[in-house]
Amino acid sequence: MTDTLYRGTALADSFRIFAVDATQTAQKARDLHDLSPVATILMGKMISAAAILSMDIKNQDSEITLRIDGNGELQGGLVICNEKGHVRGYVKNPKLFLDDADDNFHPGRSLGEGTLSVIRQSPHAQPWIGSTELITGEIAEDLAHFYLQSEQVPSAVALGILIDPDARIRACAGFMIQQLPFAAADKAQRLIQNLRNTPNLSDLMDMGLTVVEVLERFVFKEMDLNLSEFRQIEYRCNCNKEAFSRSLITLGLEELESMQEGITPICHYCNAEYHFSASDIAALIQILKEQENA
Ligand SMILES: [Zn+2]
Repeated sequence: MTDTLYRGTALADSFRIFAVDATQTAQKARDLHDLSPVATILMGKMISAAAILSMDIKNQDSEITLRIDGNGELQGGLVICNEKGHVRGYVKNPKLFLDDADDNFHPGRSLGEGTLSVIRQSPHAQPWIGSTELITGEIAEDLAHFYLQSEQVPSAVALGILIDPDARIRACAGFMIQQLPFAAADKAQRLIQNLRNTPNLSDLMDMGLTVVEVLERFVFKEMDLNLSEFRQIEYRCNCNKEAFSRSLITLGLEELESMQEGITPICHYCNAEYHFSASDIAALIQILKEQENA
C-alpha cells in the first residue's frame, strides 16, 4: 500500500483542494526514528503539511522544507518533500514523553513559542524562505496562517493523525482548501458553513473514513468536487556516500585531520551509516589540498 497526494477544484473552480493520505510515510518516520507519541504526532502532521506544500513545486529536482522551531521542550522538527513525492525529516526531541497523558496528543503545548518556516529550493535559483509565528503549534492553523500572511491566500487546513498504544499509526492525513480570487461570496459562505459543520478530521478518520471521503461527504457535501490522484508519496532519503564526502570536505583541513583514524557519520533523516576509513579520510584531505592549490 502506498500513500497518495490528491488535488482538485470545487464549486466551479472557486476553490483549489489538496489532500494527502500519509499513513505509511508517517509510520516509516516513526519506526526509523523510534519516535515518542508526541513526536510522532508532530512528525505525522508535518509530513502531511510538507506533502501538501510540495504541490507548489514547479521545477524538477526541487524540494520544499517545512521547519518548525519552538522554545519549548519538543523544540520542533524539519520535513523535506521533493517533486517526486519523496519525504524525509526528523524531529529535534524524538523521545520526549510528557507526564500528563493528554499533553502527548497536543504537540503545540510543548512546542512553546516559535516559528513555522517554508524553504523552497530549486536548482540554479536562490532558495526562497518564508516564516511566520506559530499560532497554536498544532500545525494546521499555523500553515493556514502562513498562507494568509506570506501568500495572501485564505486557506483552511486540517491535519489528523491516530496512533494505537503499540505505536502503530492507524491513519495520518490532511487537506488544505484555498479560495481562488474570483470565488463568489455566496459559495465561500456555503463552504465556510460546511467546514463549521464538519466534525474533527481525526474523529472522522477514527470512524474509518478516508480523507477523500471526509471531503466528499462533509466538507463538500452536495457540492461539485473534482478530486484526482496527483502523485504517490513515500518516505525515502536521497543520501549517499558522495554527498557525505562533499560535506566532510567543507569542514576544512583541521577538522578532517582530527578524523584521521576514520569516522562513521549517520544520516539524521534515515539513520544510514557511512563509514570513512583512515584511507578514505586521507583521500579527502588530498582532494581538499588539491582544491586549495587549484
Ligand atoms: Zn539518509
